[in-house]
Amino acid sequence: MSLTSNSAEIDHLRWKKFSVLNDGFVCLVDCMGDDAAVVQAARVSYGEGTRKTSDDRTLIRYLLRHRHTTPFEMAELKFLVRVPMDCWRQWIRHRTASVNEYSTRYSVAIDSMQSTVPGEWRTQATQNRQGSSGELPPEIGEQLSADEHHFHVQARKLYLDRLEAGVAREQARKDLPLCTYTEAYWKIDLHNLLHFLSLRCDEHAQQEIRAYAQTIGEQIVAKLFPVVWEAFGDYRMRSMNLSALDVGVMQRLVARPRPVDATTWTEVDFLESQDPSWLALARSRERDECRSKLERLGLLAPLANGAS
Ligand SMILES: Cc1cc2nc3c(=O)[nH]c(=O)nc-3n(C[C@H](O)[C@H](O)[C@H](O)COP(=O)(O)OP(=O)(O)OC[C@H]3O[C@@H](n4cnc5c(N)ncnc54)[C@H](O)[C@@H]3O)c2cc1C
Repeated sequence: MSLTSNSAEIDHLRWKKFSVLNDGFVCLVDCMGDDAAVVQAARVSYGEGTRKTSDDRTLIRYLLRHRHTTPFEMAELKFLVRVPMDCWRQWIRHRTASVNEYSTRYSVAIDSMQSTVPGEWRTQATQNRQGSSGELPPEIGEQLSADEHHFHVQARKLYLDRLEAGVAREQARKDLPLCTYTEAYWKIDLHNLLHFLSLRCDEHAQQEIRAYAQTIGEQIVAKLFPVVWEAFGDYRMRSMNLSALDVGVMQRLVARPRPVDATTWTEVDFLESQDPSWLALARSRERDECRSKLERLGLLAPLANGAS
C-alpha cells in the first residue's frame, strides 16, 4: 500500500474550529509530516531492505505495535485551543508539548465560562473515586444551572469592578472561577500526541478533557494520519494489556472444565473459590480490572448487580 500526501487535508482543516463544550474549540494551525514521513524516518534505520518485507502500512503497524516511537516524532502538529482552566490544568501536565497561553496579566480575561446544562450534572462515581457516573435528576440540574449562571455573572462583575477600580490585571484575576476559558497554542509531535490521546480519551479521564481529546483524534489526527490512526486504534485504544497475573488467571480459567451449558464462567464456578491469583488479589482495583478484561473477552459473566 502506498501512502498519500495530506497537504490538501491540512489546507482544508487549518483554522477550522471544532466546537467542544459550550464555548471551547480546537483548531489545527499547522502540521508537518504525514503517514509517509513516519515511514521515511523508519526506513533510514531499517534500510531499503524493509521495502521487500513490508509495505508502508504494514511498517507503520509494526512500528506502533512494537513501540518504535521516534519515527512518530518526525511529524508535528500545532493547535489553537480554547479550554476551561480546570481542564487546561490537566492538559498542561503533558510536558512534551510547547505551549504559549493567553496571558491574563497582559489582557483582560476571556469573557466566557464553561457552563453546564441542567441534564449534564454528574454524580460522584462509587467505583472510581476520581470519576463521575450517572446524571442528577433534571429538577436538581435546573437549580444547579441557575445557581451556576448567577455565580458566573457575579464572578465576572467582581473581576471587572476591580479592573474599573484600578487593580492590576494580575491581581484582579485571582478570584476568576476555574471554568473561565483560556486559549493557547499547543505544539506536539505525533508520538506524544498519541500518548496524550491514549490517556485523555480513556474512560478514566474526566469527561470534559475527553471531549477535547476525542475531537483532536477523530476530527484532525484521523484525517491527517489515517494509517497511523488505524494502527493506534488497533494496537493502543482498542487493545488490551494483560499482566502476568491476568495471564495466570486466564490460563487456569480456560484449563478448567467448563460447566455444562455455560457460555461463560461465573465467579462461583471458578474464581472466588479456586484461583490462587484471584484470591491473592483479594477485592481490589487490580482484581476489578482483571474481571473487566475477562468480561470483555466473554470468559466471565458480568455480575448481576454490577457490584464487584
Ligand atoms: C486519568 C488520569 C488521572 C490523573 N490523576 C492525577 C492525580 O490525581 N494527581 C496528579 O498529580 N496527576 C494526575 N494525573 C496526571 C498524570 O500523573 C501525568 O502527570 C499526566 O497524565 C502526564 O502524563 P505523562 O507524564 O505520561 O505525559 P507527558 O508529560 O506528555 O510525557 C510523556 C512521556 O515523556 C516522558 N517524560 C516527559 N517528561 C519527563 C521527565 N521530566 N522525566 C522523565 N520522563 C519524562 C515520560 O515517559 C512520559 O510518559 C492523571 C492523569 C490521568 C490521565
